[in-house]
Amino acid sequence: MSTTPVTDLSRLCIHTITTKPWDIETAARNYSASGVKGITVWRDALHGRDIRKTGDMLRQNDLKVVSLCRGGFFPARDRRKREIAIDDNRRAIEEAFELGAKLIVLVCGADPSQSLEDSRKQIQEGIVSVLPEAISAGIRLAIEPLHPMYADTRSAINTIHQANDMSEAIDSPWVGVAVDVYHLWWDPNLEKEIIRCGKNNALLAFHICDWKSPTLDFLNDRGLMGDGCIPIRKIRSWVEAAGFIGFIEVEIFSTEYWKMSQNKFLYKIIDAYKKHA
Ligand code: ZN
Repeated sequence: MSTTPVTDLSRLCIHTITTKPWDIETAARNYSASGVKGITVWRDALHGRDIRKTGDMLRQNDLKVVSLCRGGFFPARDRRKREIAIDDNRRAIEEAFELGAKLIVLVCGADPSQSLEDSRKQIQEGIVSVLPEAISAGIRLAIEPLHPMYADTRSAINTIHQANDMSEAIDSPWVGVAVDVYHLWWDPNLEKEIIRCGKNNALLAFHICDWKSPTLDFLNDRGLMGDGCIPIRKIRSWVEAAGFIGFIEVEIFSTEYWKMSQNKFLYKIIDAYKKHA
């Protein structure tokens, strides 16, 4: 178990949405100049671009493309909508392939007009139906459990226990779990379930930020590491005890931070990463 302070940035990855005011070219240039080594690309950042060339541009900036965010949103009461969602996930797989990302993070979805059980069943069906394309493209799919406050529309998978159950039920080396401290920090079973996930070789991604108290907005008031009450370093030690050696990804949606100079914000991210991750 390692809780040594971070002294280098070799495992630091930043999500493009974290510095949303920057386009992907500006983000790449600035991340790279600051010594950041990984980037997770949100699909909106690719809008209107040649995806292959964008992937090359990221690698030329010495950035590893850690994952593409996001696929998912499978459940819908209406069958036609479920088919549209599956098509969109197939497109996400093509985009990840062109970009050179080996992982897609799934925000699995939920439809409040049906039960959570029905939504979970449709999530599993959705993942299984796109799995052949993912495998032939060489791309893994990570189920990201979301905090229960999002159980109405964003995800019917709200604990890592449920994500582990689904990943085990699908039983493919191409499907695993993304651990995001923002969604999971409160869970009394977190350590146990992280270890279970690691035993399955299914821990595919680790996302960090902080939980501000009070949180003023359900979606866009995430804190920078150290702003809140999440024991990030403790959770990281569990993730590493489970065998995870991948990137530590900073994923922050924050109206407040998006308002400030993004260069200053990037400096704060790196400082907070060194002190609290
Ligand atoms: Zn996340």
